[in-house]
Amino acid sequence: MQTIRGFRDILPERISLWQKVETEATKLFKAFGFKEIRIPVLEKTGLFARSIGEATDIVEKEMYTFADRKGDKLTLRPEATASIARSYIQHKMYAKDPVRKFFMIGPMFRRERPQKGRYRQFYQIDAEVFGVESAYIDCQLILLLNELFKRLGLKGLFAHINSLGCPSCRPSFQKELLDFIESKKDRLCENCIRRIDKNPLRILDCKVKDCRKALKDAPSTLDLLCKDCDDHFNTVKKTLEKQGIDFIVDKSLVRGLDYYTRTAWEIQTTSLGAQSAVAGGGRYDGLVKELGGPQTPGIGFAIGFDRLVEVMEQINKAPEDPPLELFIVSLGDAAMEKGYHWSCELNQAGIRTEIDFRRKSMKALMKRANKLNARYVLIAGDNELNENAILLRNMDTKKQSSLAMETLVPELIKIFKK
Ligand code: AMP
Repeated sequence: MQTIRGFRDILPERISLWQKVETEATKLFKAFGFKEIRIPVLEKTGLFARSIGEATDIVEKEMYTFADRKGDKLTLRPEATASIARSYIQHKMYAKDPVRKFFMIGPMFRRERPQKGRYRQFYQIDAEVFGVESAYIDCQLILLLNELFKRLGLKGLFAHINSLGCPSCRPSFQKELLDFIESKKDRLCENCIRRIDKNPLRILDCKVKDCRKALKDAPSTLDLLCKDCDDHFNTVKKTLEKQGIDFIVDKSLVRGLDYYTRTAWEIQTTSLGAQSAVAGGGRYDGLVKELGGPQTPGIGFAIGFDRLVEVMEQINKAPEDPPLELFIVSLGDAAMEKGYHWSCELNQAGIRTEIDFRRKSMKALMKRANKLNARYVLIAGDNELNENAILLRNMDTKKQSSLAMETLVPELIKIFKK
């Protein structure tokens, strides 16, 4: 049996960087006032169709959707924002305090063409803020991302930022864009043509080379922002500059989801080839209302956890597991029983101890202790039990001492807790 295409195991040898990221991210989120939320992996299909948008790659062709036994259409979550917004509304969180900051870490599912850095089950570290309209929160989220990447030792990352406008300035932009697209229609791919009526903004995001060429001089949302959106974007730029955050304004950045308004951004790296985005985010001031809640501004980002680890693997070696403290060599039934209880008590005290329950020779067990890189070995056979003198060998210095059984566990705890 093999994993499904685009799905993979993350084996214990590779897990330490994942844990390091989780620890750092959780610490930082808490310092910035975010609370962890856990949401289901499965939701009603309508939630994603309505929030992400019918005419997006995700909804059109990437979702894992199926009918359950009663015929309800369900989808494995392709992202977290829609579910977190659903939760915010379902539990009427806005009633008690509309300002909420959430984070979550977990798997997402998209049926994309797998390649390095792109999987069908991948992981995201996700942050969402509800109820804050100020541009300072946009900056704070970008700063938070920057700070996390700095703490993880990442370099060469760039924030690409853009403003997508709001419902009051987008229509005039869309009109201008449509006029422009009409004039280039014969040079666009089938997908773009199909999107002209459904979702013209996404045409700007097309990766097909000929389309990119044809759209080089397409109008930019930035030229047609209304005063409020323009002010908002200026505050974002000015504040990021003041905070020393490297960014470039990228007018082709439209992101793949329909719910974004105003600030959108992506953190890109040059070290991952085609899959250059390690994180993406944006403001979605209309989403909560669209999903049936009260008008509430929102903003968030998602870090591609798999890609982040891949970048980290290029620059630092995975931290090594701490060495095994003690290996217990038990020879014979009586010693095995004693050894079993000692090992459990030491494990419960938080000391990394191993025992081999196979009836092996002294030589074979010492070989295993070496293989496991044990700092100390405890040797117990019939003689040691009879004489109440259990041997403890320091594997570095080769020095040996003996311990009485009554005080063996507390003595060992003293040694290892030093
Ligand atoms: P998005 O929700 O599309 O904005 O994605 C946010 C981040 O998740 C991206 O910047 C990627 O780093 C990561 N990501 C998205 N899709 C995948 C995928 N199929 N495999 C691995 N990472 C992904």
